[in-house]
Amino acid sequence: MMKLLKGTKIYSILTGNCPVCQNERMYTKRNPYDVTSTLTMEERCSHCSTKYKIEPSFFYGAMYVSYPVGLIFAGIAFILSYLVFNLNLIQTYLIIVLVMFATLPIILRLSRNIWINLFMTYDKTRSIKNRSVPKFVSPKNASIK
Ligand SMILES: [Zn+2]
Repeated sequence: MMKLLKGTKIYSILTGNCPVCQNERMYTKRNPYDVTSTLTMEERCSHCSTKYKIEPSFFYGAMYVSYPVGLIFAGIAFILSYLVFNLNLIQTYLIIVLVMFATLPIILRLSRNIWINLFMTYDKTRSIKNRSVPKFVSPKNASIK
């Protein structure tokens, strides 16, 4: 299923993979519930050398994305508890609060993934595996012969 989505932004958003080559994860830990490193990211993709943090406070913008993402989660919680399971409004409210807390690490990551995918696009030529991609050399080291 996920294989079919490869190459689309959806794939990168759902997997948290590099938005350009989609070959590896941006986050150092796979599990978002490892809360000390929920938002700890690699600096660059080791496959295509894409730098994730385009500029110093780049990911602050993900905050704006987290509102609609959170609303979607709250909406699903509302529909399920109020409309499907016919709970009363107080129970529904409590469940929404619980769901928001429980899914916070996922909401935070999804927001970052959506945010970075607004600025970067999948590039098939940079995604091809077993191709010798020159490793990133910082300009400082490049001058040393
Ligand atoms: Zn990459």
